[in-house]
Amino acid sequence: MRKTRPDGPHAGLDEGWLPGARQVASPNCDERPAGTAVSLLVLHAISLPPGEYGGDAIERLFTNRLDPRAHPYFREIQGLKVSSHFLIRRDGELVQFVPLHMRAWHAGASSWRGRGRCNDFSVGVELEGAEEDSFTPAQYQTLESLIKQLRLRDIAAHSDVAPGRKTDPGAAFAWRALLASLSR
Ligand SMILES: [Zn+2]
Repeated sequence: MRKTRPDGPHAGLDEGWLPGARQVASPNCDERPAGTAVSLLVLHAISLPPGEYGGDAIERLFTNRLDPRAHPYFREIQGLKVSSHFLIRRDGELVQFVPLHMRAWHAGASSWRGRGRCNDFSVGVELEGAEEDSFTPAQYQTLESLIKQLRLRDIAAHSDVAPGRKTDPGAAFAWRALLASLSR
């Protein structure tokens, strides 16, 4: 059943799907706690297999269709049920897996400014990348546009909300350039 959401922080979006994003619906999501305002964007980096770009493995992971026989690493993460709202590919393509009003499963055990369970009140954005690599100009362009559309109060790295456990998106992420371009 289609429902419209005329009110709320993402008013006007068709069921929480962003226009212009390629939709790949993930079953790995659930309702946010009632009355939760979404205020945080959590930035991640992912590549599958690790260090390799392109291919459909990330989309398969987020839709529980990863073939454990296709790569030794895929066997290690077999059965993992995760997702994010968005993935920004190396060429800047924006893919959306979970509608904004639903809770995606990206941050895990986490806390932001003393508040736990970041998945409840955040939007997860994965950049296709590995920590030793720079992200591409096309990715920053898409990210900047996404941030401007979402207008969330805070932006944090996964490593900020899960310190000691997570290191993504890593030291190569150009925070200063991003923040400078956002303030223009
Ligand atoms: Zn992460």
